[in-house]
Amino acid sequence: MIIIDGSEGEGGGQVLRYSAALSLLTGEPFTISNIRGERAKPGLMRQHVTSLEAACAIGGAECSGLTVGASELTFRPGRVIPGEYHFAVGTAGSTGLVLQTVLVPLMLADAPSRLVIEGGTHAMAAPPFEFLQKTLLPVLQRMGPKLSITLERHGFYPRGGGRIVVDIDPAPLRPIECVTRGAFKVGKVEALVAGIPFDIADRELKAARKVLADWPDEAFAPVQLPAENGPGNALLMVAEFEHVTEIMSGFGKLGVPAERLAKTAAKRMAGYLASQAFAGPYLQDQLLLPFAMAGRGAFTTVKLSAHTRTAVDLIERFSGRGFRFAETADGAHLAEVR
Ligand code: ATP
Repeated sequence: MIIIDGSEGEGGGQVLRYSAALSLLTGEPFTISNIRGERAKPGLMRQHVTSLEAACAIGGAECSGLTVGASELTFRPGRVIPGEYHFAVGTAGSTGLVLQTVLVPLMLADAPSRLVIEGGTHAMAAPPFEFLQKTLLPVLQRMGPKLSITLERHGFYPRGGGRIVVDIDPAPLRPIECVTRGAFKVGKVEALVAGIPFDIADRELKAARKVLADWPDEAFAPVQLPAENGPGNALLMVAEFEHVTEIMSGFGKLGVPAERLAKTAAKRMAGYLASQAFAGPYLQDQLLLPFAMAGRGAFTTVKLSAHTRTAVDLIERFSGRGFRFAETADGAHLAEVR
């Protein structure tokens, strides 16, 4: 039984999701206390309960203490059973983070799966749909499994109601090297608005253009979604390179000026563009688990995040596999499975 203190490292929901995924992959049960101990409102939120329910459903696992607000639980994994599953968060809690919990175990299962996940698709502090589709899944596909994802409906905070469908055709994970990102192909910035004033999109695009000054005018486009999908707003910045497509995003929130949100996301993109790294600040921690399960492989990335350090610790504790990090000559960081 592995004992986890949920306030260690990043101390958020990721500790729990990573532990559940690793438990399914290694067969090691775990118990966790102080769940999300570093967050202003600690304990399980709806999204985390759904993520763990999903892990139990696909993994024949037993989990005691799975209620909103709970600060500890014990998880005993069973055998991963591929198939058709439907998970609904019931709030704008992230569909992408539910997927993050079960994706790698299902990529290594013995038959295909189809997941329908309902909740938020464009919500703060989580991967938006486009990041899953264009950034994460294409890298994972190069490791062997066939993956496809479709967006059936957008889901914004606070209403949720979004829906994604994910098809997973498993295969043994092959180690890959993602060391160079190749030549820059094209950049695009989209401001999505649903059921809110259209000028918010214009203000965001104007602010983003100031930071990404050498991207051409036609790279910046507003996108109006059906009002019934809203209210909601997301800003997506896409940089397509030969070997990877990175996406930085910002999500509208009452009280946060459109300009500020756009400037923050655009600066993050500018930082990534100025580096030579393959993986940006979020792809980084999401590559660790599949790379560790492949047993070898390497990728370059920007400055290491707290999420990455936390994930590396958890991977070591559950699987005994580790990573070696080194700074490269151009200032990027090389992460290698050791
Ligand atoms: P909490 O509410 O406890 O912070 P959480 O469950 O929402 O927790 P975190 O522990 O903060 O989540 O983990 C967030 C995950 O989402 C990380 O894997 C991170 O890389 C990813 N993520 C956050 N923002 C983005 C983004 N803009 N694009 C892509 N991925 C993101």
